[in-house]
Amino acid sequence: MTAETVTNWAGNITYAAKEVHRPRSLDALRALVAGSARVRVLGSGHSFNRIAEPGPEGVLLSLAALAPVIDVNGAARTVRVSAGVRYAELARVVHAAGLALPNLASLPHISVAGSVATGTHGSGVTNAPLASSVREVELITAGGEAVTIGRGDARFPGAVTSLGALGVVTALTLDLTPAFEVEQQVFTELPLDGLDFETVAGSAYSVSLFTDWRARGFRQVWRKRRLDQPAADFPWAAPATLALHPVPGMPGGNCTEQFGVPGPWHERLPHFRAEFTPSRGNELQSEYLLPRSAATAALAALDAVRESFAGPLLTCEVRTVAADEQWLSPAFGRDSVALHFTWTEDTAVVLPAVGVVEEALAAFEPRPHWGKVYTVPTPVVRARYPRLGEFRELARALDPGAKFANAFVRDVLGD
Ligand SMILES: Cc1cc2nc3c(=O)[nH]c(=O)nc-3n(C[C@H](O)[C@H](O)[C@H](O)COP(=O)(O)OP(=O)(O)OC[C@H]3O[C@@H](n4cnc5c(N)ncnc54)[C@H](O)[C@@H]3O)c2cc1C
Repeated sequence: MTAETVTNWAGNITYAAKEVHRPRSLDALRALVAGSARVRVLGSGHSFNRIAEPGPEGVLLSLAALAPVIDVNGAARTVRVSAGVRYAELARVVHAAGLALPNLASLPHISVAGSVATGTHGSGVTNAPLASSVREVELITAGGEAVTIGRGDARFPGAVTSLGALGVVTALTLDLTPAFEVEQQVFTELPLDGLDFETVAGSAYSVSLFTDWRARGFRQVWRKRRLDQPAADFPWAAPATLALHPVPGMPGGNCTEQFGVPGPWHERLPHFRAEFTPSRGNELQSEYLLPRSAATAALAALDAVRESFAGPLLTCEVRTVAADEQWLSPAFGRDSVALHFTWTEDTAVVLPAVGVVEEALAAFEPRPHWGKVYTVPTPVVRARYPRLGEFRELARALDPGAKFANAFVRDVLGD
């Protein structure tokens, strides 16, 4: 037990906790869970809000001291991975076995369990959130019992994107595909006027548009093409002549290889290289998923008020996410466009800008990213999740004493 201070990656949150524990064995973990009244698990701490916070009476658990497990089954094309493992480490082992994950987030630094718990996603009209690769979840529930929930179990659609509310995830089994190669090309200055969003977003396996909203249109377009899929021209913008970083002023060398140089999936699908600080570091982030069919109207709505929120904005990324079936996934049941905002680190300046963005997007029923900064009132968020009631029932069944429900989760569930 320690009385140490633990902060998130961005440093904007210091977690309130009575105790911090890093158990060294699953038995020690089970005993800690069984003997504690309130528990939350911290993954790699890349969320920007209090989602992982246990509160002043609770225990914050890190699984970082457990021996990592990455068990590839080549014949079944699956991997069983212990919860604390980060995507960078997982991807190297999976690739060495000739296999791949279908998609990755913008950074490989994040833990697998923490990422799928919040609905973390990459980009691509056919790419659902990272949780869609999960086929089985292993949990320690409130009494210290081990529970496994696999695809096909009626509880499964609540078990992956669970906000950490069901128990301590100890391992996940993921589906894999054969390894593939990707080339990444960056283009500059794509006009907003006349933008055919569907065509641009669907022009490669993964496409991201970036703007700082200080002028109309997009400063950069990042296209990641699988080499086993046909090449399509990109006549709407000019190829970049320098290696670029999505945050203006940051070095392009921190980013994955550009200029169409083919490389393995895990060295192209993220924007940021594993060995550098991703993004900028001193920053906040917000993100909203809304129906993809509303993309053009939503971009026009943001453009109409851009001068009111661009001040603290470092960059805005526009991606696409295919629908999934996790009850609490921001992409649940709808093919989505994800509008992401990287802000400066000054919360007091950022929150009014977040409010402007949320007001502009309100008509499109956005679902905020669970791991980022938002101010949409919780009853409004709750109403956007048609299966939230089933999730609440599942949480009550697995955790009747609400051991894993912190203030964030109680608020989301309306308890
Ligand atoms: C620079 C940067 C870039 C990002 N890019 C993207 C992006 O491209 N796409 C995107 O969608 N998001 C992105 N994010 C957000 C990030 O993916 C999410 O916040 C994600 O949840 C981070 O994973 P983590 O392990 O750090 O989670 P944490 O913040 O540590 O935890 C998140 C939640 O998971 C729970 N949890 C973690 N481990 C366990 C466990 N073992 N058992 C039970 N519950 C657990 C926690 O209690 C908490 O509720 C980015 C964040 C940063 C800082």
